[in-house]
Amino acid sequence: MARYTGPVCRLCRREGEKLFLKGDRCFTNKCAIERRSYAPGEHGQGRKKISEYGLQLREKQKLRQSYGLLEKQFVRYFRLAERKRGITGENLLQLLERRLDNVVYRLGFAASRAEARQMVRHGHFQVNGRRVNIPSYLLRAGDEVAVREGSKDHPAIASLAEDLGKRVVPEWLQLNAETLSGTVLELPKREQIDTPVQEHLIVELYSR
Ligand code: SF4
Repeated sequence: MARYTGPVCRLCRREGEKLFLKGDRCFTNKCAIERRSYAPGEHGQGRKKISEYGLQLREKQKLRQSYGLLEKQFVRYFRLAERKRGITGENLLQLLERRLDNVVYRLGFAASRAEARQMVRHGHFQVNGRRVNIPSYLLRAGDEVAVREGSKDHPAIASLAEDLGKRVVPEWLQLNAETLSGTVLELPKREQIDTPVQEHLIVELYSR
């Protein structure tokens, strides 16, 4: 499964804002945005004049990088969102939020989406009682995600379990910290998704 393996802080610096790709480090003063809040590269501190296309492109890149997707995967979500009834931009965000790795992250079982993806790949989670190791698995309302019995003693999960409940879990999810599980109460609405993105710019970009 292909994924970006380069330096992730560089992605935040390119977008000029925190994308929270590194877990706890993002909340410390070691964060690269705190220390060098300009774009990477030789001309990173140069004068910026951004076109309409540039704005749309940056918005798309920001959303894509936030969920750790490659362009091909991202376009697939967009085409799927277009075919669904409703507002394409909102459909797109909802599809991204429904990914299993995102839900694991949102429930607080992982410090970042990248970590959640790895934990899912390593088979630490089950959905409705069945082991699922596909990070892109799309959850539905009513699905239950749980740490597998044999994984509860895994050091990474055990250390995160102590902090469970400290992170704000979105309203569309319900966390059960005792059983290390969570339920999708309903599919997320736009106002329940805190990803700071102007999705209409992404729709405009792909409609060119
Ligand atoms: Fe982005 Fe986190 Fe790196 Fe800061 S520490 S630049 S928020 S990935």
